[in-house]
Amino acid sequence: MDTGDPLASRLGPVERAISWRRLAEESFDLVVIGGGVVGAGVALDAATRGLRTALVEARDLASGTSSRSSKLFHGGLRYLEQLEFGLVKEALAERELMLTRLAPHLVKPVSFLYPLHHRLWERPYVAAGLTLYDSMGGARSMPRHQHLTRAGALRMVPALRRDALIGGIRYFDAQADDARHTMTVARTAAHYGAVVRTSTQVVGFTREADRVSGVRVRDCEDGSETDVAANVVINCTGVWTDELQRLSGERGRFRVRASKGVHIVVPRDRIVADSGLILRTASSVLFVIPWRNHWILGTTDTDWNLDLAHPAATRADIDYIFGHVNRVLATPLTHADIEGVYAGLRPLLAGEDAGTSKLSREHAVARVAPGMFAIAGGKYTTYRVMAADAVNAAAADLPARIAPSITDRVPLLGADGYHALVNQADRLASRYGLHPYRVRHLLDRYGSLIHQVLDLAAGRPELLAPLPSAPDYLAVEVVHAVSHEGALHLEDVLARRTRISIEYPHRGVDCAAAVAELMAPVLGWDADAITHEVKVYTARVDAERDSQTQPDDQAADAKRSAAPEARPLVDEFVAP
Ligand SMILES: Cc1cc2nc3c(=O)[nH]c(=O)nc-3n(C[C@H](O)[C@H](O)[C@H](O)COP(=O)(O)OP(=O)(O)OC[C@H]3O[C@@H](n4cnc5c(N)ncnc54)[C@H](O)[C@@H]3O)c2cc1C
Repeated sequence: MDTGDPLASRLGPVERAISWRRLAEESFDLVVIGGGVVGAGVALDAATRGLRTALVEARDLASGTSSRSSKLFHGGLRYLEQLEFGLVKEALAERELMLTRLAPHLVKPVSFLYPLHHRLWERPYVAAGLTLYDSMGGARSMPRHQHLTRAGALRMVPALRRDALIGGIRYFDAQADDARHTMTVARTAAHYGAVVRTSTQVVGFTREADRVSGVRVRDCEDGSETDVAANVVINCTGVWTDELQRLSGERGRFRVRASKGVHIVVPRDRIVADSGLILRTASSVLFVIPWRNHWILGTTDTDWNLDLAHPAATRADIDYIFGHVNRVLATPLTHADIEGVYAGLRPLLAGEDAGTSKLSREHAVARVAPGMFAIAGGKYTTYRVMAADAVNAAAADLPARIAPSITDRVPLLGADGYHALVNQADRLASRYGLHPYRVRHLLDRYGSLIHQVLDLAAGRPELLAPLPSAPDYLAVEVVHAVSHEGALHLEDVLARRTRISIEYPHRGVDCAAAVAELMAPVLGWDADAITHEVKVYTARVDAERDSQTQPDDQAADAKRSAAPEARPLVDEFVAP
């Protein structure tokens, strides 16, 4: 239901109090567990079909895998090589939809150079794949691939060693800030009437006769608990899927295993290039991805059986990535170039094959018990398709017939009017007294919600100043993150609403106090709360830095998990 209230999509402290009452008092068609992209997508799909929907997230929106990906909306060239044509086609159709209709403010084209090493066979082989890639899934808005001589490729990426290639092919994919995109999907669900609540963990299931009839949730800020009644519960918890299945007492229909992928962020000027790179490794590929004034390098692919909330990168992971990238660079990167490092866990459907790179990226939906469903696997790019599949499956346990999915026609918040505002950037800039470059940056983060952000600075011009030690962001963005985007802790703002934690070598520590001061009035923090938040965030950064000097996963995990939690009331489930 579109509530018609422009503030309905607001996820601030007032709405947080209201949503707790709604969870306790209302009865829902669907309760979605997990605020990653899949859960947010399911909530949006369900709400726009007219279902009474609630989404609960234990920590922060996108705090799991959905803020730690390679940030590509892509078909996956690698899957093409594995002859998974259906998967590639579906993903490319989603890429096109995001770029053109659903999220043109957030999803942008990105260019990659594929360096060629072998004469005769390699160019026609790669070009045949890219010809398919350019045309599958109705991908019309992207430029087609382009052949380059060695000299042409070196002009595009002067940073490459001359002997690192004999020629190249350039192709296009798309990228997005995954954490912002997931949060925007969740806010769009709220806009259409879904209750969306973070720091709200499912700690149990309720039953009527043989049927799951809802969940028990804990407010991880104040410890209070309540039951939420629902016709259907959908488990969208990614790498936590098995934990939730155990909690429900039901045997799962599939298992999910975690594979760790690490990325490194380095400054843009360390690699002189007008395009990203895709490099082949023994088992997979490694990307050098342009990211604002930075490059993101990654990723790795190794089994992970330790802390699911805080996967830790090791020195070995970092050396592996540098090893591959430095093989082709004229001036090698060193540890001193690192601005940020992040690790994420792929939720892979457990299969027979031991090598996780080869495990299927396809998703599975299952009816775990009457009234309870689970969905997992897949990839970020296809979250919308996964969401529709999950709600279609859930229809079996809903009392009335449900409308078909319409999310292919539901632009995310900020998409409507975005293109016109880009054309009016100069006018907007003079209206708010900002540089047009800054306005374009804001439009690519908020789209047509830019007014909602900047109007918070009316009468408070100091909020239009850049953040100290993180000048890519304005102070008003921090205020908006807490008043409208559901941020509750310093790490929510520094790691996900902004990406300061990976974009600045100080990883957010140098601006933590200033950011906490901006958050405090909205969240009602006193001086002690501010000090506590800064202390917890600083300890997190120290622990991450420490873990990144460790030789192996066990040692890195021990360092990382010793840091205090921003949300100490979250239960970490452990295998029985
Ligand atoms: C290194 C890496 C690179 C990747 N790159 C790409 C890419 O470039 N393109 C692409 O398409 N895909 C990519 N992927 C895959 C993609 O990121 C994931 O498939 C996707 O983000 C998974 O989303 P999810 O919602 O299933 O899981 P998550 O984002 O992990 O969400 C699950 C949520 O459930 C919450 N939760 C857990 N337990 C509870 C509970 N008891 N109560 C309430 N909430 C709970 C968690 O806090 C979490 O927020 C990549 C993955 C990795 C790891």
